[in-house]
Amino acid sequence: MTANEMKLPVVHVINGRQKKLLQGHPWVYGNEIERVEGDVPDGGLVTVVDFRGRYMGTGFYNSRSLITVRLLTHRQEPVTEEMIAGRVRAACAYRRFVLARPGTDCCRLIYGEADRLPGVICDRFGGVVVLQVLALGMERYTQVIAETLMDCVHPDCLVLANDDAIRRKEGMECFTRVLSGTLPQETIINENGIKLSVDVTGGQKTGYFLDQKENHLFVRQFCKDARVLDCFSYIGGFALNAALAGAREVTAVDISDKAVALIERNAALNGAQIHTVCANCFDFLREQVREQQRYDVVVLDPPAFTKAHANMASACRGYKEIALSAMRLLPPGGVLATHSCSYHMPEDVFVNTVLSAAQDLHRQVRVITLRRQDIDHPVLAGYPESHYLKSLWLQMLD
Ligand code: SAH
Repeated sequence: MTANEMKLPVVHVINGRQKKLLQGHPWVYGNEIERVEGDVPDGGLVTVVDFRGRYMGTGFYNSRSLITVRLLTHRQEPVTEEMIAGRVRAACAYRRFVLARPGTDCCRLIYGEADRLPGVICDRFGGVVVLQVLALGMERYTQVIAETLMDCVHPDCLVLANDDAIRRKEGMECFTRVLSGTLPQETIINENGIKLSVDVTGGQKTGYFLDQKENHLFVRQFCKDARVLDCFSYIGGFALNAALAGAREVTAVDISDKAVALIERNAALNGAQIHTVCANCFDFLREQVREQQRYDVVVLDPPAFTKAHANMASACRGYKEIALSAMRLLPPGGVLATHSCSYHMPEDVFVNTVLSAAQDLHRQVRVITLRRQDIDHPVLAGYPESHYLKSLWLQMLD
């Protein structure tokens, strides 16, 4: 520990909140702080101690963020550019497991706190790497992160997509800038042998939901000769896998016309037949039930219904409503794959909500499996928020 580090302002955490920090949690909320000793600018480094003055970690302070301190380390070590570069290298090295999959050239390279790089998101889309810095304290390390990424990944193009509205809440500007190379007219990625055109600057998230790669693959085994409905399809990840696995008929539904246009583009890229519908899935599902339609496989992958714990009851109603409709479309033997991507929705609550739909319909179901996000969105022990995606697969028994 250098003399400089010793002199950092000190954040005292109220009694009772030290346990999660000792378990490795990287956040201190504003209401967990008892007092701050010394002057600390937003984005500056602080030492965090518990109510007895015991060292808990070193991290970035931002009074404008609900997450007032984001810890970089729980050990008494200086925070340096070398530390940040080392974390970036470790994150990229771990992704070799994903990039070794046949026909796969896309993955999340850096998943924020779970890679011990708070507020840093980085996705690789073939030759294009998209970086986002969402925490004020990390902003000054943008260059070292970008240089290390260039070194580890050698992308054709590196884009800094600092356009997420979260940045404004943290007190930063929103902008997108190409840091290296030129952005191609169209970015086409390969996911388990499937080609996908992704919109890396205008799309949702950083362009594509990479967390579903393994679940996209998993759906294939149920799709031979099946009639498949992919609700909340985005650019067609599940639908394409279903079509290429030999589905008899695939329908993909999304509310975004831009997404639907990309499903059509992606179907053409893969020589697949997909029937696309631009609609609100809540209405579409109700309509399909009214028409007494039948599907062998239904996928539900809605956006996060809740961004806060307080909205949990209404989120549960949303999950239940679409599960009820989907089950009504499934005959005995039919498969439902249903997802929740909000970390505020605990796994057991989500599972019980979906299963209660089957109970209401007096139908028994087999729980095929309960899956998660793909492994390039790693779960950090002590940081439960890093496990957010729940993927529940059911088969209707009667
Ligand atoms: N299944 C996709 C990811 C889905 S993300 C994949 O595997 O890649 C959620 C999608 O739901 C987004 O594309 C969004 O446009 C869409 N969406 C949001 N609300 C919707 C609604 N009410 N009806 C239909 N689509 C909706």
